[in-house]
Amino acid sequence: IGIPSMELADVTSDLQRRNRHISPILSVSYQRPIAMHAAAFQYMYDKVGNTFLDAYNNIPHVGHCHPLVVEAAQKQMETLNTNTRYLYDQLAEYAEKLLEKCPKPLNKVFFVNSGSAASDLAVRMAKAHTQKDKMVVLEHGYHGNTEQSIAVSDYKFNHPKGNGQPSNVIKVPLPDTYRGDFQDKKAGKKYALALQEALRNQSNIAAFIAESIVGCGGQVPLAEGYLKEVYPIIRSKGGLCIADEVQTGFGRLGTHFWGFQTHGVVPDILILGKPMGNGHPIGAVVCTDAVAESFEKGVEFFSSFGGNPVSCAVGLAVLEVIAKEGLQENAQAVGTYYLEQLRHLQQKHPVIGDVRGSGLFLGIDIVHPNTKNTYNHLAQYIKNEFRKRHILISTDGPDDSVIKTKPPLCFTKGNVDHVITSLDNL
Ligand code: PLP
Repeated sequence: IGIPSMELADVTSDLQRRNRHISPILSVSYQRPIAMHAAAFQYMYDKVGNTFLDAYNNIPHVGHCHPLVVEAAQKQMETLNTNTRYLYDQLAEYAEKLLEKCPKPLNKVFFVNSGSAASDLAVRMAKAHTQKDKMVVLEHGYHGNTEQSIAVSDYKFNHPKGNGQPSNVIKVPLPDTYRGDFQDKKAGKKYALALQEALRNQSNIAAFIAESIVGCGGQVPLAEGYLKEVYPIIRSKGGLCIADEVQTGFGRLGTHFWGFQTHGVVPDILILGKPMGNGHPIGAVVCTDAVAESFEKGVEFFSSFGGNPVSCAVGLAVLEVIAKEGLQENAQAVGTYYLEQLRHLQQKHPVIGDVRGSGLFLGIDIVHPNTKNTYNHLAQYIKNEFRKRHILISTDGPDDSVIKTKPPLCFTKGNVDHVITSLDNL
């Protein structure tokens, strides 16, 4: 991978001039947006006839515009497509099927229409159940863009400069075995001790919230054993454990259906979103009977679009396709191959500092070859060069220097070879 000799053009100001109505997040993440026209499975097509390999997007989980998902949506659209406090088969059936996938005592589902709304609701539920107020959050975690979900996030775009978390949020170190303080086999335990220390003089703890692989924060898997140590610490203080599965759920990690299962824990509350609807907006909170009961004592929860019949029909179709097409197994097989190929590449290219992740949820940490510091400039260059080669990837992490690749679960080994060859030849 060659080091670019030229500085990148200031694409942000160019974008602002050309597309004044696009949010700053888009301008940073995608620079000049591609005018997409259509998509199918792991491919996207722009307006001038180019085909792009989507090596990035984890929202179209079972593949863009999967025909069974499209058919389910169309059929439901024609029969019943609004919900205002009625019961219908799709709602009951989807809740049942979703709960079949969840270990006990997770037993109740509340539907909303985004991951942010789910995070927001999860925080409110934890506070209602425990009658406590403090949230324990991970450094570089991301949980959404609403007031409550921003408060429990530590993401570069969320907090305006100088505005950190509110005083009822306790931020603890990310158990990162690549960049963090502890990198050995016992790192999980050491990070858990650090959390314990941070909470030593704290009371009033409502919950701990974490992703099992921190996605927007740089595709960082939590150190092995960390959650197993942390959950009892939080519970001993009377708090609940919340797992944010918006990115890591529904078989993406290959070995298990949920990310928390890779850590051998069972949370009290789950936050779900993105892949549930394969692009259609759905989110959900799954929790224990006890949590649901305390929450519902205080409020009557209602969401106009949560549990919409079309969303439920789509959600059911997604679950069906994952099972029928063996997509979790594919994520495991293709993801393992992908990681192996990236590791080979890492031997050849010193700018690849680390490759990490599980299943089809991987990160490539781009570093300066001499200092091993983050190398945002090169990561942006790679992203742009990939785009010219019609491969979609993105970058994230605190310095935007980690390449994220989390494609639809129908990605093939041939697709992986294409990405690897392109990266090798840059
Ligand atoms: N939680 C995690 C882990 C996420 O990655 C995201 C979005 O990227 C969210 C929550 C928020 O979901 P949404 O964008 O659907 O509101």
